[in-house]
Amino acid sequence: MKVLGLETSCDETGLAIFDSEQMGSDNQGLVGQVLYSQIELHALYGGVVPELASRDHIRKLVPLLNELLEQCDVKKSEIDAIAYTKGPGLIGALMTGALFGRSLAYGLGIPAIGVHHMEGHLLAPLMGAKPPAFPFVSLLVSGGHTQLIAAHGIGQYEILGESIDDAAGECFDKAAKMLGLPYPGGPNIAKLAENSDQNTYDLPRPMLHRGLDFSFSGMKTAVHNLIKDTDGSDSDPQVRADIAASFQHAMVDTLVKKCVKALKQVSMSRLVIAGGVSANTHLRETLEAELAKINATVHYAPPALCTDNGAMIAYAGFERLQAGQADDLAVSCIPRWPMTELPAV
Ligand code: ATP
Ligand code: MG
Ligand code: FE
Repeated sequence: MKVLGLETSCDETGLAIFDSEQMGSDNQGLVGQVLYSQIELHALYGGVVPELASRDHIRKLVPLLNELLEQCDVKKSEIDAIAYTKGPGLIGALMTGALFGRSLAYGLGIPAIGVHHMEGHLLAPLMGAKPPAFPFVSLLVSGGHTQLIAAHGIGQYEILGESIDDAAGECFDKAAKMLGLPYPGGPNIAKLAENSDQNTYDLPRPMLHRGLDFSFSGMKTAVHNLIKDTDGSDSDPQVRADIAASFQHAMVDTLVKKCVKALKQVSMSRLVIAGGVSANTHLRETLEAELAKINATVHYAPPALCTDNGAMIAYAGFERLQAGQADDLAVSCIPRWPMTELPAV
């Protein structure tokens, strides 16, 4: 089954074709994907402008689809189903992809399904060669979410803990901004942190001894104060690099300790990390090392499938279509949508 995936929940237009018949081959079923980021469009305003995002998705969807079909050497008539992001996200942005996908499916006479963006992230690591089996603990760490979830099956999600304020990715982005680095902050912090000493500055590990919830708003203040105290924003490049490394270390340390705690609490031995921050090398390496000590394993997707993309939407859609689910002709997007409301497969 060839599924076209469409992601337009925020500031990235992502399209991909997933073919279940190619799952065992080198590409793991991912025939091809295209991604257009609106970063430059919004840079001027210091944040995503919803109306501009919607308009840009509309501009890009048709040319990107044509580019994808050509790249994959697939004809429209060969597509078997379409999956689009139905929520959560910006309502206008969601509507563009949903209406485009739903109408195209109607025109082609094929089924369409609305996918939960965070389920897309959560399932992306399962596209690999040796997918982890359910049940597992999932750490969802992205620009808008930080959650620990016990995943018992597709659509069977139990939230173990989550951030009571900022998301981890958002915190990376804000710390980067304070250090004068451009958006997205995560990869830029990681780069600056290379060849620096992560033990130079002692930053907080918030809420470490309080359950499985997270809090990252205090971290921003701590970084702000540290930059002020060290003249880090404009002085010595080494000072800035050491701040970046110390910050990354504190974030990773906090996330890893909570993951270990979650695995122990629910007696599971597999951890799956997903979302943009799961692309972080320091996080991956620290988890590999720490989980080995408790006989647990960590699983993640290639970096391009950690941040927003159409492939994860195509794959999550495929799993649900295969279980007989599909959406009718009415298009309804859900800007705020708890993952616990999803039906089980
Ligand atoms: P959500 O999925 O919650 O709606 P989003 O779609 O904006 O939010 P993603 O695209 O999954 O989030 O991830 C983007 C976030 O990931 C950004 O905050 C970015 O800084 C962070 N990020 C990306 N790469 C890295 C990295 N290597 N290290 C740390 N953070 C990273
Ligand atoms: Mg994004
Ligand atoms: Fe995302």
